[in-house]
Amino acid sequence: MPALSPEALVAQAAEARATYARLAAAGLKLDMTRGKPSPAQLDLAEGMLALPGNRDVVTETGEDARNYGGLQGLPEARRLFGAMLGVPPDLLVVNENSSLAVMHDCIVWALLKGVPGGSSWVGKDVAFLCPVPGYDRHFALCEGFGIRLIPVAMDDEGPVMEEVERLVADPAVRGMWCVPTYSNPTGVTYSDATMRRLAAMKTAAPDFRLFWDNAYGVHHLTENRPAPHDILGLTAEAGNPDRAFIFASTSKITLAGAGLAFFAGSKANVAWYLEQAGRRTIGPDKLNQLRHTRFLRDLDGIHRHMAAHRRLLAPKFDAVLEALDTRLGGLGLARWTRPEGGYFITVEMVQGSAKRVVELARGLGIALTPAGATSPYGKDPTDSVLRLAPTYPTVDEVRAAAEGIALCIHLAALEAAGV
Ligand code: PLP
Repeated sequence: MPALSPEALVAQAAEARATYARLAAAGLKLDMTRGKPSPAQLDLAEGMLALPGNRDVVTETGEDARNYGGLQGLPEARRLFGAMLGVPPDLLVVNENSSLAVMHDCIVWALLKGVPGGSSWVGKDVAFLCPVPGYDRHFALCEGFGIRLIPVAMDDEGPVMEEVERLVADPAVRGMWCVPTYSNPTGVTYSDATMRRLAAMKTAAPDFRLFWDNAYGVHHLTENRPAPHDILGLTAEAGNPDRAFIFASTSKITLAGAGLAFFAGSKANVAWYLEQAGRRTIGPDKLNQLRHTRFLRDLDGIHRHMAAHRRLLAPKFDAVLEALDTRLGGLGLARWTRPEGGYFITVEMVQGSAKRVVELARGLGIALTPAGATSPYGKDPTDSVLRLAPTYPTVDEVRAAAEGIALCIHLAALEAAGV
């Protein structure tokens, strides 16, 4: 708490409690838990649903997109999304809709068969590094297969590299989760120096992989549009060409439940992936690939489409920031991110108070992601971090929820200070 007089603190608490009572009586019903696109965002891709249409089913190489085959994806789709991700089309695989499913497959295949340069992980002590705060589904995926989760702190350049370099000296550490652009949930974009160190660091496990989840590569909230990074180039340059498994999808570009998911990597990694995938399927949904390429057309088309998302999303992020600034600015009770892209705002508050904030918010009818969700095993030892997801509700709902949340953070901090 900043040095305020006891009288000033008591007055603050009285105001906050009165406001809480008034809001509690208002019967709000707001949900800030879901990092989902809103219906208005999904509507942006409405035109895609009529495509390819009208017997337009022949691909650029003359294949019938309705038929089996095309395991790696259509050349036109690989060209378009390769440009988006900054990887050559021949090193990209276009899959079904979910990149999480692609990550799941890679974990299972790594466990059962081993990745290029390694052997099966079954029966071995396997651990993954998890930058924290991070994405709960990454953690759950590893946990489900008995892979140990080792938290690594984040700073504003990405994972703290001194910690990472120390931890990868353990041969049990076979992988690391990375969301390099507009990280979930901090919004941090890894610096060039951090990416270079990840590409070049010495790992004890010869088959160590960066699980490089570029879920938010083009999801800008400002007019700045950083160029795609080149992790494949960096790893190759550092003599570790097979180090990165790259994942991405169009879930938050076109349709969250009916987009396209991508895998990319070195030549050896792509050959390995296709070998496993070829036993799992005769080929992906190529009509959906045609639909996407016809609709988005080229990289400019993707950027235009993402600018339309930005126009819907930026006011929601602004509403949250304004509410936090208005109630908590200058009090020294909490810090929050000002993301330039991605889907979340992270708030760090007085230690030991995040669970209490969630409880207080519930009392106002505001649902928040459980405290701890952004840490491995759902446990944040500091109980201080909350992830806010402002994308799905309307701007007015987001504003009302954010004002309520800011109030709860204020109240919890006053309680913690015994006021
Ligand atoms: N990766 C990250 C970092 C995410 O935040 C999300 C969704 O929120 C996903 C992956 C899910 O991707 P998909 O819809 O392609 O399965």
